[in-house]
Parts: sequence; structure tokens; C-alpha cells
Amino acid sequence: MEKQAVQRAREAFLAGRSRPLEFRVQQLKSLQRMITDRQGEIATALKQDINRSQYDTPLFELIGLENEISLAVSKLAQWAAPRPVERNLLTISDQAYIQPEPLGVVLIIGAWNYPWALTLQPLVGAIAAGTPQRPPPPSLFLLSCELYPVVCGGVSETQELLRQRFDHVFYTGNSTVGKLVMEAAARHLTPVTLELGGKSPCYIDKDVDLRVACRRITWGKFVNCGQTCIAPDYILCEPSIQNRVVEGIRQTLLEFYGPDPKSSPDYGRIINQRHFNRLMTLLEGYTATVGGQSDSSQRYIAPTVVKDVPPQARLMQEEIFGPLLPIVTVSDIDDAIHFINEREKPLALYVFSSNKKVIKRMLAETTSGGVTVNDVIMHYTLNSLPFGGVGQSGTGRYHGKHTFDQFSHHRACLVKSLGMEEVNIVRYPPQNRQKARR
Ligand code: NAD
Repeated sequence: MEKQAVQRAREAFLAGRSRPLEFRVQQLKSLQRMITDRQGEIATALKQDINRSQYDTPLFELIGLENEISLAVSKLAQWAAPRPVERNLLTISDQAYIQPEPLGVVLIIGAWNYPWALTLQPLVGAIAAGTPQRPPPPSLFLLSCELYPVVCGGVSETQELLRQRFDHVFYTGNSTVGKLVMEAAARHLTPVTLELGGKSPCYIDKDVDLRVACRRITWGKFVNCGQTCIAPDYILCEPSIQNRVVEGIRQTLLEFYGPDPKSSPDYGRIINQRHFNRLMTLLEGYTATVGGQSDSSQRYIAPTVVKDVPPQARLMQEEIFGPLLPIVTVSDIDDAIHFINEREKPLALYVFSSNKKVIKRMLAETTSGGVTVNDVIMHYTLNSLPFGGVGQSGTGRYHGKHTFDQFSHHRACLVKSLGMEEVNIVRYPPQNRQKARR
């Protein structure tokens, strides 16, 4: 089934069906209509899946998606236009330009934690770039099923798809599967975008408004029950402010979810039993400073903070991807920078400080896929910024025009005339000194 769908998409691509700009705009508008019409159903589905608040799905997935579509519709002609480049003496009377052209048939593999944004946002760029591809739920679509077929499934369907040849593979998920995707793509020399995860640090300087910092961190850590790829994974701070950080988070949790988060309509659940068990194992041997309660029958884990976590603890070895927040103390900013740089390059980095020098040093002396200063997650929302990882947290980038570019080949074009042949004499043999001096 997968093989035939890929073949049909390739035939449609070769027939040029996905290329006309009007067609791309019309498909993008269909996608927009589907999202607007089905907002309620989409939010209800996620409420059922992970008890996500009805308000969070529009806020975290659909508004951003609609902005991406509007941007692509309004800018497509500009993005797809040839871009003239500088010429040299030998090409001064020729046309030299970069022409974005669709890469071909692409495969998008989305993740479950923000299923609409993580599957459809790449799709927006793929449609805009003129590439047919695979993914999103078919019955919901007014899109061309031939050009944009969908496979709903798990591991075996993904493995089957990965045996096919594509012109680009765009994968969002964990890095273990990321390696399998890259391996499978390498067999066909297919380029990949890998949107992976990792441990995103959050450094809180002592010179900061802790009330504001704790509120922002608590929001970004516990939304979607911690299952957000760019959630702050752990906090780094000096021992002198640790207890105040804990209290700030405790107060904010009370404000957000009340005394019993389990009964709050705004607090989510863990996606499945495997992840629930994994998180509970991570907590083993620790006493939670805040939270720590759980209920396996509901896959509920309370928003949990653990303080004084040693760097070698299991909680600090793998990405948490759940509502557990360890605090590791560092002696100063040098120690914090060293701690971050000793580990894999993170997907996101967060710094909270009122001190410009601290901010400057953190930015200059560390690296990460993206960074937000004095807030969390928000760099994701700006579609002028490229979103993606670096090193183990991923390769490639998307959002806005960056997605269009990811699915385009930027073809180098030089168009010469057959005139002015005398200019070319210098490069033809036989060579001699006289010609070289001309
Ligand atoms: P997952 O286990 O659902 O896997 C993701 C995809 O890989 C699914 O489509 C799944 O079917 C497929 N898959 C799983 N095992 C496979 C195998 N053996 N062979 C082929 N395909 C396979 O996802 P997950 O790991 O629970 O997702 C969480 C991870 O994703 C976290 O690490 C998170 O940070 C990361 N993530 C990253 C981003 C980003 O934008 N960078 C966004 C969301 C999630």
C-alpha cells in the first residue's frame, strides 16, 4: 500500500501537478479551512488523549499553524521567485540567479505530543515548495489525496515507508529513531531533517525577578504534562536561591492548577503506560520537594520538583519529557556554562537574569538549537526564526520561509547568450603567454 502511494505521488510530481503556484495556494487555503472548521474536534481529540486543556490546543498548535499558512499564502510568490545574484566580469552580461525548486517526493514523520503542529507545520512548507509527500489524517482533508497521501500507523508502517526512496525525509521524535531514519535515508542518499530532543537547560541567575521567572518556567515545564520537546528539562542555579526557586514554583503551581492538579481541567496526562513507567523509574530513590504523587490507572503524575539533584543522577542522564523538574546547583555562572558545555548540545537553552553581562556570556559561551532569554519556549512561536536542533538535538530547521527552503533545492542558474565569443578566447587552448596577458 505504502509503495503504491509513494509511486502515485512521484508520478503526480513528475507530471508537474504540485508545481503551479495557484495550485499550491489553493491547497494551503484548503488546509486552512479544514483547521478552522475542525478546531473543536481537534481540541476534543487531544482532551481525550492526554487530558489537554481545550484552550491549549488552539493556543499551542492551531494559531501557530494558521499563522504559518497565512504567511506562506501571502509570501509564496516572493519565496518561489528567482533571486538574482552578483556577477563577475566574465558573466556581466548574463543572467545569474538562484531558483528555488521543489525537491521531489518527501516523507514527513510527525510526533504525538503536538500532533497537529508537528505534522502539518512541515506540510505547509512542503506544499508551498511544491513537493508532494506523505502524512496527516485523510478523511479530514480537502487536499489532493494523490499528492498528499497519509499513512496513520506506528513502527511497522514507518519502517515500511523508510524502505521507499524519497527526495527528503523530515522526522520529528526521539534520537534513537532519528538514527534509524538517517540510516534508512542514507541507503538512498536522501537528505534528512531531524527534529529531535534532549535536555534543555534553564539557568536562573541570582540577579532576577524570581516571581516572574518561576511563573514562566512553571508554565513551560508543566504544559502538556511536560511532554514538550523544548520544555526546560532542568534548572541550574546557585544554592543561595534554590529554596526560593522551589517556593516560587510551588506558589505558581497552586495558582495554575489549584491544590489538587489531578482534578484540574488544565493539567494533562502521560501519553501511555510505557512513558508513565519510565518517568516513575526516573524518580526512584528521590524525595520530591514538590508533588511526587501519581496514579497509574490515569497515567497521572503530579507536577514534581526535586532539589539538590546530583549531576550523575539518572534524572540528569536522559531527556525527562514529563512533569519532573530537577534542580542542580552550580557555584556560579562559570560553573553553569561548564555544566552545559560538558553535555550534548541542547535543543533549547533558557537564561533568566537582569544582568546584561550574564546574558551576554551565556549566549556567547554556550550553544543550542535555539535560545530564549527571560522566558521559555517563546522562540518557537516566531516564524522568522529557524527552529531546529544542533548536534544530537537535530539537524535542519523549519518554520516560515525556513520550511519552504528545507523542501526546496536552491538551483544555481547561469543563462548565457551565444554572443560575445571573443571574451571566451582566453579559456580555450592552445594556451600561451600572450593570451594570458590579454
Ligand atoms: P515516538 O516513540 O512516538 O516516535 C516518533 C515516530 O517514530 C513515530 O512516528 C513512530 O511510529 C516512529 N518510530 C518509533 N520507533 C520506530 C522504529 N523502531 N523504526 C521506525 N520508526 C519508529 O516518539 P517519542 O520518542 O515518544 O517522542 C518524543 C521525543 O521526540 C522526545 O525526545 C522529544 O524531545 C522529541 N520531539 C522533538 C520535537 C522537535 O521539534 N524537535 C518535537 C516533538 C518531540
